[in-house]
Amino acid sequence: MEELSLLVDLHKHQQRQGPGSEEVTARAVELAGLRGAGALRIVDIGCGTGAASLQLAKMQDASITAVDLLPDFIEVLRDNAAREGLSGSIKALVGSMDKLPFADGEFDVVWSEGAVYNIGFAEGVRQWRRLLRPGGILLVSEISWLSLERPGAVQRYWDAAYPEIATQAEKTEQLENSGYEVIDTFTLPEACWMENYYLPLLESFDDFLARHPGDSQAAALVEAEKTEIELYRQYSDFYSYCMYIARVRR
Ligand code: SAM
Repeated sequence: MEELSLLVDLHKHQQRQGPGSEEVTARAVELAGLRGAGALRIVDIGCGTGAASLQLAKMQDASITAVDLLPDFIEVLRDNAAREGLSGSIKALVGSMDKLPFADGEFDVVWSEGAVYNIGFAEGVRQWRRLLRPGGILLVSEISWLSLERPGAVQRYWDAAYPEIATQAEKTEQLENSGYEVIDTFTLPEACWMENYYLPLLESFDDFLARHPGDSQAAALVEAEKTEIELYRQYSDFYSYCMYIARVRR
């Protein structure tokens, strides 16, 4: 089976495709001043199977447009939204985050958890700014260094995997330089990684390998995920996702 199909098969059965939690989504809503803010037009970019979109649809008076590159994830999100009676509030679309088919100022909120790295943080926040009305809010979680000094092994891993990783101060400066005023930032706690993402993934490996017997690419994918999980176990003091909450400067 081809690598992308394997990735989809590994991740589409999970509730989340990256670190996060309901508490984090709720906290971000609160810090952004969105609670009870009236009807909001929200776009969730790189939504995966839609953990945040589904929660936002329940918490807020909102019409949500959820976009992901992978049709399988969008299909799962549509099924889940229908099952939860939320199809009226969530429109789920297949599309790429660097070619979004929306008008300037179409949204009050741009939301993106654990996804902007696909086009790079600086490029993503620069491109998505036009989607927001004046004063609109960006909420984006992004992998970030938690310290200025890092052990060589973790530095080398991220230099290869995502060289744009930087400190919260550097990411904040990038946002300020891209026409946003940063309202708040916070670091995602360990439970977002282990309990909500890595442990369910670890528990799924046996079934995944049983679905792909003798497939060396499937085995390699599991090994790569295990390496990433081991890295986090060893070096979680040095990096995490951080949530960046920013307002478009007028
Ligand atoms: N936001 C979800 C969550 O927190 O569970 C998913 C996060 S997952 C780490 C990254 C997501 O970005 C995946 O669902 C992937 O399909 C999506 N993605 C990757 N490249 C993309 C692109 N160019 N445009 C839109 N989505 C993309």
